[in-house]
Amino acid sequence: MSITAASIDILRSRLTTAIVHVPGSEGYQQSLVRWSDTGVKRAGVVVQPMIAEDIQTALQWAQEHAIDIAVKGGGHSTAGTSSSDGGLVIDLSRMNQVMVDSAQKTITVQGGATWKEVDEVGAAHGLATVGGTVNHTGVGGLTLGAGYGWLSGQYGLTIDNLLTATVVLADGSLVTASATEHPDLFWGLRGAGYNFGVVSDFTYQAYDKSSPVYSGILAFPPPQLESVVEQLNGLLAEPDSRAGAMCIFAQAPDGSGPMIIVICFYDGTQQEGQQHFAGLLGLEPILNTMDMIPYAMVNTLQNPQATYGDRKSFKGIFYQPPLDPHFVRTVFTDFMAKLQHEPDLMASAIILEFIDMRKICEVPLTATAFASRNTTQNGIIYMRWTDSSKDLEHRAWAREIQAKWTAELDARARGQDGDYVPQYINYAEPGDSVVPNIYGENLGRLQTVKAQYDPKNIFNKMHPIPLDTK
Ligand SMILES: Cc1cc2nc3c(=O)[nH]c(=O)nc-3n(C[C@H](O)[C@H](O)[C@H](O)COP(=O)(O)OP(=O)(O)OC[C@H]3O[C@@H](n4cnc5c(N)ncnc54)[C@H](O)[C@@H]3O)c2cc1C
Repeated sequence: MSITAASIDILRSRLTTAIVHVPGSEGYQQSLVRWSDTGVKRAGVVVQPMIAEDIQTALQWAQEHAIDIAVKGGGHSTAGTSSSDGGLVIDLSRMNQVMVDSAQKTITVQGGATWKEVDEVGAAHGLATVGGTVNHTGVGGLTLGAGYGWLSGQYGLTIDNLLTATVVLADGSLVTASATEHPDLFWGLRGAGYNFGVVSDFTYQAYDKSSPVYSGILAFPPPQLESVVEQLNGLLAEPDSRAGAMCIFAQAPDGSGPMIIVICFYDGTQQEGQQHFAGLLGLEPILNTMDMIPYAMVNTLQNPQATYGDRKSFKGIFYQPPLDPHFVRTVFTDFMAKLQHEPDLMASAIILEFIDMRKICEVPLTATAFASRNTTQNGIIYMRWTDSSKDLEHRAWAREIQAKWTAELDARARGQDGDYVPQYINYAEPGDSVVPNIYGENLGRLQTVKAQYDPKNIFNKMHPIPLDTK
């Protein structure tokens, strides 16, 4: 059904403090902005609530009028899953408050906050939790899909630190989900969480993090690729829960050509950090910004590259370490050749994560809905361009690279029973997964939980759980 002026009047009359944007109204265009232009869609109406009651009202109104529903947290979906063509967007960006309980060491965050707010308010109390490595990403989407961060080696995934979530369900009811209240919903929220409702707040376990950490950026010229990969492999062969690294293949911002960037993280003293990364530091990087910095600052290091604007695509890759340096060389060469050939892609990158997965793997695979809990590392083929006529072409090319990673490494990435290990859901664009079932062995239980909490499948944008029709 389409949205009429009369139906908007009804909506406005029922809402309390929410702001409503409709096409042509002041603020409407701004409300459509997403991190990637590929995520921008012309909504029929955008509701920006400040309280959970207005989320309930908007959800009920949309269902009465059979209107499509999208929920926007931080707006970083490159596939447009937080946007709607002609429907209702519940934009949580005004619900971004962060509250700290210093005695309990917990952080409660409204569903539309970004990790910047969490990092900064947490830091003011000497606390931090496991959040995203680019601080303008949303707490909402990142948490609901699992969440890896620099602190994952020590404390696991973001969902492993989630204590409670307050959720507005499809039927308009407001419930608390935790280990003791609606435990099935709480299970499903942790890894498939976009499927069940609108989360108005999350409460996380936090940890003392008042001391600075050793972190920064190293850059190496292309001839050192194999040596860098060997060093990163070595770091994972002798893992340290306090450490992490990210290796990025990109063009130098000054136009001087391809380079290898390594972001290093060590939650310890400078001496400990230097010792841990001695092999990489010994390769004599052409850029070295490693220093003792506040934890919150580490999550700003990628911001200059991860800016808003342009068209973008994320294709998740996953690999079982150690990486074969010869294979990585092939990928690097092909990628850089493509960027040279298509200058519009110059800001694209391949990002490979190196995280100690031991803490994450302590939690049984079926303890949460997240199906990709294993020793496989995650990476991203990050495509960025401006020409919208090239959307399909660039995505298809990235899929080819993605397939190469799968072909090279699938033997090692298979589970013990020979099944494919599902890739990280937050790096997989819906409908584009290289793995047929993103929910792996948790699918059956998820179908049961979905049937209970969202039987009409109104939350269907991000990897929708197929309702069991048996
Ligand atoms: C630059 C960048 C850096 C990233 N870094 C990391 C990282 O370090 N670690 C990591 O694990 N992932 C990372 N990711 C992936 C990230 O977790 C996902 O893109 C995530 O979905 C973004 O969430 P969002 O709220 O910003 O996006 P949105 O586009 O707002 O939301 C994504 C999905 O979640 C749903 N959603 C969001 N909030 C809510 C809510 N409160 N209630 C119900 N549904 C909600 C939306 O409806 C949508 O379907 C990164 C992504 C980008 C673009």
